[in-house]
Amino acid sequence: MSDLVLTRHQGAPGLTALAGYEQVGGYRSLRRAIEMGPEAIAAEVKASGLRGRGGAAFPTATKWSFLPKDSFPRYLCVNADESEPGCFKDRVLMEEYPHQLLEGVLIAAFALQVNHAFIYIRGEYRSQRELLERAVQEARQAGYGGPNVLGSGWDCELMVHGGAGAYICGEETALLDSLEGRRGQPRLKPPFPAVKGLYGQPTVVNNVETLSNLPFIVAEGGARYAALGTEASPGTRLFCVSGHVERPGTFEVPMGKTTFRDLLEMAGGVWRGRQFKAMQPGGGSMQILGPQHLDLPLDFKAVADAGSSLGAGALVIMDDSTCLVNVAMRLVDFYRHESCGKCVPCREGTYFESELMHRLEAGLATKAELTNLADICANMDGRCFCPLGDTATWFVMSAYRMFPEEFESHCGAGRCPVREPLAVAV
Ligand code: SF4
Repeated sequence: MSDLVLTRHQGAPGLTALAGYEQVGGYRSLRRAIEMGPEAIAAEVKASGLRGRGGAAFPTATKWSFLPKDSFPRYLCVNADESEPGCFKDRVLMEEYPHQLLEGVLIAAFALQVNHAFIYIRGEYRSQRELLERAVQEARQAGYGGPNVLGSGWDCELMVHGGAGAYICGEETALLDSLEGRRGQPRLKPPFPAVKGLYGQPTVVNNVETLSNLPFIVAEGGARYAALGTEASPGTRLFCVSGHVERPGTFEVPMGKTTFRDLLEMAGGVWRGRQFKAMQPGGGSMQILGPQHLDLPLDFKAVADAGSSLGAGALVIMDDSTCLVNVAMRLVDFYRHESCGKCVPCREGTYFESELMHRLEAGLATKAELTNLADICANMDGRCFCPLGDTATWFVMSAYRMFPEEFESHCGAGRCPVREPLAVAV
C-alpha cells in the first residue's frame, strides 16, 4: 500500500476533470462520509491527528470543536490565499487535484453542517481559480454539490472568491474581512472566527492542504493516516523545496520520519556543486536554520526546539554564495510592502527596518545602526496586532544571531563584502 495521501493518484490521466477523478475512486469518500454522519467524521479527523497545514499547525478536530453547537448558519472558508515566500504546494494541489480538494471541502462542510463553503483564492492564481470554478460546476452538476447532495437532504453551495493580491489576507480574519467586501485587515480576537466569523456567524477557516487530506482519512481511517507519520507529527505533508537546488519542486513525505537532508536530496541537492549555507525551513517568515540542523526530522517539536518552525511547508535552500544580509533585506522589503498599516509597530517598524537593511546591505551602516536594527526588531516582535509584524523580524534576527560576522562585516564596508561582483561584458 502506498504511503502517499495527497499525491497518491499522481500520474493517473485526466485528474483535473470529474470523470478522471471518479476513475480513481473520487467522491466515494463523500458518500461514505454522509453515511457515517458528522460526529463519526469528526472522530476520524481527531484520530488522524491532522494539524492545519497553513502554518499555525493547530489541530483540525479541535478547531472544528470550537463551533457553538446550536448556532446557524455557519460557514466554512478555505484559505487558498497562498502567499508565503517560497510556498507553492497549495497551487500544485489546486492545479493537479482540484476535485480532491472539493471532496475534502464537502466532507468538512457536511461534518460541520455548513450549507455554504467559500474558497478564497490568491488573486494571482487566476488559472487555478478558473480550474476550480470549472470543477465546482462539474461537481454540482453531478450532484456532489448544490441542493440535496447525493440525495442526503443536505444542501451545500461552493463558491470560489478571488483575492486582490494582499499577503495579509492569508491571515484568517483579514481573509474574512476581504470576503465580506472590506479592506483586508486582521480583526481583534476574541471573538474568534469559530464564534463570530464570516457575516458575524460561526466560521471555520481551513487551509487547502488540510482539507485535501480528508478523502483519504474518511476512506482509510484516521488511525491509518496518523500511522504514516510519528505520534508527535502524524500523517504526511507536502513540502515545496526551492532556492539553490538542482530540482525544485513539491514532495510529499511522512512527517517525523524524514529529515531536511532527505528533502534536499529529493530536490537533487545543492546546485552547481556548491556548498550548503543555510535554509528557511517554513517559508520567508520562519527563523533561519544552518548546516547543523540538516539531520533534524520534519517534526513540529524538533524544529521548534531548534528555534524555528515548519511554517507553511516551504524549504528554501541557500548556497555558500548567498549574502544573508541581502536575503534579509529583500524579505523585509516584502513585509514593508505587505504590512496592512493597521498597527504602529508593524507599519513604522517595517519601514525603519527596511531603511536600515538597505544601508547595511550597501555597506553604509555603522555598528550603532546594527544595534538600532536589533532594537527595532525587539520592539516589533510580540507587540504587533497580528503575526505579520512579528515574523517580519524573525529571519533578520535569527540570521544575525547565526551569522553575526557576516552582518558586522557589512558595517562601513562601502559595498556588500559577501556577494561576488557581477561579471560585466564589455
Ligand atoms: Fe497590519 Fe502589520 Fe499590524 Fe498585522 S502587524 S495588523 S499586517 S500593520
